[in-house]
Amino acid sequence: MKIHEYQGKNIFKDFGIPIQDGYVIEDIGEAPATIEKVQKEFNSEAVMVKAQIHAGGRGKGGGVKYSPTPEKALENAQNILGMNLVTHQTGAEGQKVRKVYITEALDIKKEFYCAITLDRSQTKDVFMVSTEGGVEIEKVAEETPEKIIKVWLDPLVGMKSFHARKLAFGLELTGDALKTAVKVFMKMYQCYVRTDASLVEINPLVLTEDDRVVALDAKFNFDGNALYRHPEIAALRDQHEEDPTEVEARKFDLNYIKL
Ligand code: ADP
Ligand code: MG
Repeated sequence: MKIHEYQGKNIFKDFGIPIQDGYVIEDIGEAPATIEKVQKEFNSEAVMVKAQIHAGGRGKGGGVKYSPTPEKALENAQNILGMNLVTHQTGAEGQKVRKVYITEALDIKKEFYCAITLDRSQTKDVFMVSTEGGVEIEKVAEETPEKIIKVWLDPLVGMKSFHARKLAFGLELTGDALKTAVKVFMKMYQCYVRTDASLVEINPLVLTEDDRVVALDAKFNFDGNALYRHPEIAALRDQHEEDPTEVEARKFDLNYIKL
């Protein structure tokens, strides 16, 4: 099961991971007040308007828009809410946008890729980071695999601070940013373990112009068979994003895998 970016960021918040924060709307009537609230709360004129669909590549598909003024933010929200968003992950039919996330805009210095998942071949978890954030990681893996730094984590031992330091050094971070990144990576691992996620990905994790380390995006995958242990996560399911046959099968407690 997948969840939306804003839901993933709420989980990050619970684990103390700094996020690019904001509010979600489902109705365009809520947009003006929400834009104003985000501007006030985060003390910036500019905001981001972000389509909430489960597929990635929203930015390239036109579902993530920098909005320098409230007028522009409203216009972007009007265009994005209800649009059929096509990305490299939705397929040609696209996905209807039913929720829009209005967030603070950040001054970005660098974008990093970070993810934790299970490496079945090693029966260990693998924590991967790359300086090539923001772009499709599949492309980096194919063209410049040396730019992906990996550490393998034995689930019985867990993650130690030397693992996190190796990752942060790999991103060429120094000073306070290095220290913060180490903390963020440790928390990300805690989050992965405690939620029983099969994937936790932050792409991009950004370094801001004022040297803060912030999760700009959030992606989670959960193994359906572990969800009974996490009713609060199971409740985040969005039926609109799922294959109708899977939704039907679940009513009968079946786990339907489309081949
Ligand atoms: P997706 O992965 O679906 O494309 P993201 O949440 O990762 O969606 O956002 C896409 C991009 O939006 C980021 O890689 C980031 O570069 C971009 N972006 C551009 N300007 C800003 C800004 N000022 N504040 C926040 N994000 C920004
Ligand atoms: Mg992203």
